[in-house]
Amino acid sequence: MSTPDALPELFGSMVFNEVTMQQRLSPASYAAWKTCITEGTSLDISIANEIAEAMKQWATEKGCTHYTHWFQPMTGFTAEKHDSFITPVGGGRVILEFSGKELVRGEPDASSFPSGGLRATFEARGYTAWDPTAFAFIKDDTLCIPTVFCSYSGEALDKKTPLLRSMDEVSRQALRILRLFGDNETRHVTAEVGAEQEYFLVDKELYNRREDLRMCGRTLFGAKPPKGQELEDHYAGAIRPRVAAYMKDLDRELWKVGVLSKTKHNEVAPAQHEMAPIYSDANSACDQNQLTMELMKRVADRHNLVCLLHEKPFAGVNGSGKHDNWSLSTDTGRNLFKPGKTPSQNAQFLLFLAAFIKGVDEYQDFLRATVAFAGNDHRLGAQEAPPAVLSVFLGDELTAVAEAIIHGTPYQDAGKRTLQIGVDVLPSIRQDNTDRNRTSPMAFTGNKFEFRMLGSSQSISGPNIALNTIMAEELEQFAGILEKSQDFKADLQKLIKKTFTEHQRIIFNGNGYDAAWLEEAEERGLVNLPSAADALGAYVAKKNADLFARHGIYSAGEIRARYEIHIENYTAVVGIEASTMADMIRRQILPAVSGYASELCRRADGKMAVGAACQYEKKTAAAVSRLTDRLLSECEKLERDIRKVPEDAVKAMAYSRKTLVPDMEKARGTADELETLTARENWPFPVYSDLLFSV
Ligand code: ADP
Ligand code: MG
Repeated sequence: MSTPDALPELFGSMVFNEVTMQQRLSPASYAAWKTCITEGTSLDISIANEIAEAMKQWATEKGCTHYTHWFQPMTGFTAEKHDSFITPVGGGRVILEFSGKELVRGEPDASSFPSGGLRATFEARGYTAWDPTAFAFIKDDTLCIPTVFCSYSGEALDKKTPLLRSMDEVSRQALRILRLFGDNETRHVTAEVGAEQEYFLVDKELYNRREDLRMCGRTLFGAKPPKGQELEDHYAGAIRPRVAAYMKDLDRELWKVGVLSKTKHNEVAPAQHEMAPIYSDANSACDQNQLTMELMKRVADRHNLVCLLHEKPFAGVNGSGKHDNWSLSTDTGRNLFKPGKTPSQNAQFLLFLAAFIKGVDEYQDFLRATVAFAGNDHRLGAQEAPPAVLSVFLGDELTAVAEAIIHGTPYQDAGKRTLQIGVDVLPSIRQDNTDRNRTSPMAFTGNKFEFRMLGSSQSISGPNIALNTIMAEELEQFAGILEKSQDFKADLQKLIKKTFTEHQRIIFNGNGYDAAWLEEAEERGLVNLPSAADALGAYVAKKNADLFARHGIYSAGEIRARYEIHIENYTAVVGIEASTMADMIRRQILPAVSGYASELCRRADGKMAVGAACQYEKKTAAAVSRLTDRLLSECEKLERDIRKVPEDAVKAMAYSRKTLVPDMEKARGTADELETLTARENWPFPVYSDLLFSV
C-alpha cells in the first residue's frame, strides 16, 4: 500500500474524512450526512448504503480486505472484531460487499466484555452502532468504523455513548446562557479537548527479560540507579537517535490516521517522552487518544522498543500522566473560556468561570474518582504529580478579579472603582510561563482548563464526561435563575459574586506538592482521597449518581456498573502484581541470591584453606543470607495474604489496598537491598540502569 510522502497529502490519508466524503458521495447523501452530524437527524438506510459503498470502495483501493466496528468497552481499551468484505457469488468466486446495514449496526459477541452486571439482567448480547460524527479510518488493512456499544435495552456498555450524551447536554445548557447574552447565532457548543500523552521507551530485549514489565507494565523491583533524574538533564533535552527515529515514525503513523500530533519532547525522567496533539472536539480527541496509545505501542515494536504507558513503570523517577486540556467553543468560533474584549463578553466569561469553579468544588470527589485506578495511585500525591486533592489554579490576575468581586473592593484596572460586571472590561489575562503552576490538578491556562490528574494509560472519556456534565449542571442552574430575572445585569453581578464567595475554598494558587497544602486543604473542607480504593465510592454517592441520571448521562444502573468494574479492576490489578511478585521472588530472586551466597562461601572456604583474607566473601554472604531469609518470610506472608482476598468486591478492594500493597512494599524493599549486594551477573534480570539508560 503506497502512502504519499508530503505531509499535507500524508495527513489524514487513512481517514474517510469530510473531504473524502464530499468527493465520493452524491451531493444529496453528503448533505444528509452533514445535517445528521450538525443537527442530530437520523440517516436513511438508502444513504447509509451509499456511504457504506463509498467507504468500501475507498478502503479496498487502499488495500483493505476487512472492516471492523471499533468500540471502547468499559475496560478503557478499544475492541474490534474483523469481518472481511467477501460475499460468495457462486462458482467459487467472491465479490466485495459492504452494506448500509453492516455499516450502521454490528453484533459482536459481547459476553466477554465487562458489563458490571448490566447485561446479565437483560440480554446476553450487545450491539455496536455507527457514530457518524467520528470519521472511519484504516488501520492494519482494516476499515475501522467508530461505534458506540450498547445492550439491547439501550444501556451504554462503553465509554463513547455517555461522552456523546454529555457533549450534547453541555451544548444545550451553554446555549441557554449564550441566548441570555443576546447570542442568537450560535447553534452548537463543543467541548474541545487536547490530551498530552506521556510515555516511556525501553529496549525490547531487556523488557522481555522482566516478568513484571510483561505481566504488569511496571517494575515491581529495582534499586535506585546511581543516576536518576537529579541532573534534570533529560527534560526537553536533545532527543537521542533511536528515540528520534521512533518519534518520526510515530508522527507519520499518527498523521496518516488524522491525529494532529504537534509537539514531541523528552520528559523529566530518563527514557520518558511526551506527545501533545492539537486539540479537537472531545469525541475525536478520545478516539484519537486511544489510537495514539495503540500506535505508540505498535510503532515501538518495529523499532525493537517497548512503549510503557503505565503510570509508574519505575520507582524513584517520575511517572507518566496525561494532561487533559478542556474548553468550550461555539460553532461560530468563540472560545467560551477566553476573556473577551467587551464588557458583555467578559461578563459571560466570568459566568462560565464561576460555573466551572462551582462545579469542581461540588463534584471534587467525583472528578477524583474519574482518575482513580491502581496505576495512578503511585503518582497522585507523590510529589511528582498533583496531590489527590482537587483545587483550581486561576493565576494572580484572575484571582485578583475574583477577590475584588467577592469583597466588593476596588479593582485597579477598573480605575479604582469596584468591578461592575457587564460594564467594565477585564484586563487581558495573560498566562506566561512563570504563571503556569505545574503542581495544580486543575489549572486555568489562559483559555482552557488543564486537568492534570489523569494517568497516562487511562481512557480520557471518563474525566471529560464528568467535566461536561458538571458544567452542564451548573450552567443549567444559572440559566434557571437568570432566565427569570427582571434586571439581568444586577442579578448577574449578584450571581457571580455569590458563586465566587461560596466556592472560593477550591481556588488555590500555591504549591500543590507542599505537605502544608494538605493540611490547609483539610481546613478548607476539601476532600482528600489518597488511593483509588478510597476514591471509587464517589461513583455511587447519591449526589453524583443523581447528577448523571438527571442529565441523562448515566442511568443509576449504568453508573453502578462502572463502579463495579472499577473496583474489580483495582483488585485484579493488585492481585496480578502480588502474584507476579511472589513468582519472581520464588523462582528468580531467591534461587539467584542463594546461589550467589553459596558461591561466596565456596570462595571463602578456598581462600581460608590457603590462609587468605576473605572478609568480603564472608560479610557479603552473611548479609545476603540474612536478607534472603527475610525475603522468604515476606514472600510467604504475601502468598498467604493473596489466598485470603475476601469474596465481596468492595471488601476485596479495601483488603488489597490495606494488606497486599504494604506486603509488596516490604518485600520490594528487601529485594532491592539484595540487588545492591549481589554481583551484576548473578542478578536474574536487567536492572534500572540498563532499562533507563540503554535507549
Ligand atoms: P503546555 O501545557 O505543555 O504548556 P500548551 O498549553 O501549549 O502546552 O498546550 C497543551 C495542550 O493544550 C495541547 O494539546 C493543545 O492542543 C491543548 N489546547 C490548546 N488550546 C486548547 C483549547 N482551547 N481547548 C482544549 N485544548 C486546548
Ligand atoms: Mg500541559
